[in-house]
Amino acid sequence: MADFDVDLFVIGGGSGGVRAARIAAGHGARVMVAEEYRMGGTCVIRGCVPKKLFVMGSHVSREIEDAAGFGWNIPTASFDWPTLIANKDKEIARLEAAYTANVEKSGARIVKTRAVLEDAHSVRLLATGEMVRARYILIATGGAPNHGAMIPGIEHVISSNEVFHLPELPRRIVIQGGGYIALEFACIFAGFGSDVTVIYRGDNILRGFDDDVRDHVRAEMEKDGISVLTGCTVTKVDRHRDEYTTHLSNGSSVASDKVMFAIGRHPSVANLGLEKAGVAINPRSGGIAVDHSSRSSVENIYAIGDVTHRYNLTPVAIREGHAFADSVFGHRKVQVDHSNIPTAVFSQPEVGMVGLTEAQAREQFSRVDIYKTTFRPIKSTMSGRDTRVLMKLVVDGSSDCVLGCHIVGDNAAEIIQAVAIAIKMKATKADFDATLALHPTAAEELVTMRTPTARHVREAAE
Ligand SMILES: Cc1cc2nc3c(=O)[nH]c(=O)nc-3n(C[C@H](O)[C@H](O)[C@H](O)COP(=O)(O)OP(=O)(O)OC[C@H]3O[C@@H](n4cnc5c(N)ncnc54)[C@H](O)[C@@H]3O)c2cc1C
Repeated sequence: MADFDVDLFVIGGGSGGVRAARIAAGHGARVMVAEEYRMGGTCVIRGCVPKKLFVMGSHVSREIEDAAGFGWNIPTASFDWPTLIANKDKEIARLEAAYTANVEKSGARIVKTRAVLEDAHSVRLLATGEMVRARYILIATGGAPNHGAMIPGIEHVISSNEVFHLPELPRRIVIQGGGYIALEFACIFAGFGSDVTVIYRGDNILRGFDDDVRDHVRAEMEKDGISVLTGCTVTKVDRHRDEYTTHLSNGSSVASDKVMFAIGRHPSVANLGLEKAGVAINPRSGGIAVDHSSRSSVENIYAIGDVTHRYNLTPVAIREGHAFADSVFGHRKVQVDHSNIPTAVFSQPEVGMVGLTEAQAREQFSRVDIYKTTFRPIKSTMSGRDTRVLMKLVVDGSSDCVLGCHIVGDNAAEIIQAVAIAIKMKATKADFDATLALHPTAAEELVTMRTPTARHVREAAE
């Protein structure tokens, strides 16, 4: 072991890399972490955290609108985008400092540089040219926004990286994409008062989510004034001074002050020296190919988080990083269970889901019962807001096991986190029914839906 400068070299100081470094150092390993941008990675610096702060900020306008029905007379409110940005930047800087301090406190050493592999045990620090020999290497380099085809005018298009630093609030914005990042920003800007157009190539937004959720969210966004154009793509973006014209494949065009693409993310595998070390890429996903314990094609090199392009979520990267460190340095083999990962979309209204969609359940199970309700939330009866909540349970009709839960409405993400525990424990519909309602809440509907709204039975093949 004397041959090595460190026991573990972590490339990337994001959610997964930081967790792995701290836990490995806690197990007594000599750890070095390289970060080329800012400690904390995508989630803290330009992902989940600043986005959630924007979501909260944009909700305020709706609260003000809703207040009148409760008797509040609020003088015309004004909003200052630069204040939001400055306060968000302050909070992100605080978190970055906390991440840095926590890694250093664990005993791991941070090096602020891009790091690349030279061979299976050697990493080069590009800032200094120094070579570090490591017994194990963990690649936790995350992912980056994908702009898609090089259409004319692509240089005018911003991604989720730049959107957090716009000097002013765009009065009109075009967002291409139908996934959670595109829709979250569509709702954020709509909440701040911008005119928003969403462009998506498929026939409906939120591919991969339950079809009822997809229809419901789209209808609610449209009620909120967001224009959702599906079945078309952006073919060209022209700029005339501060105005952009976005040309669409259906022949129409939209004028705006900003154009953003959120059409997917690719794993950060380029120019990392993977070939020199013999690390294989998964040809299907484009991410680093790994086994169940996050080990790559090279015995001492592991990869976790978004760079493996498995489930691109912060808690997954953290869990994978922790499991890696426990397994390799803590002498406790831990495998991450990727089933039933709860997911949210912080749109307006919010989406929370865990488990199977109705379509997935019908593919995998011969008897599927659906319990579904939509209703006007109690707050709307006073605020007058035209909105509805959706709650849906997908149940295995043979075992009574609840396979999936889908919610669209206020606090859906908070609710689904708790429901995910029940589903992970394989709760049955009878368990949900036996649970007393908590009144008056929206979530009580989850334990009071008695009669299936649909029952799907697949005949056994002859
Ligand atoms: C706008 C947005 C919103 C999101 N919202 C959510 C959400 O609400 N909930 C959720 O769970 N997930 C969300 N995500 C996804 C989440 O941010 C990622 O899944 C998570 O950050 C992945 O962690 P990671 O450790 O794999 O990579 P990252 O956090 O991306 O960290 C990788 C780090 O490696 C560094 N790096 C890359 N290459 C090198 C190199 N060669 N040398 C040194 N350093 C390098 C990068 O600078 C980066 O800091 C969001 C993402 C985005 C973009």
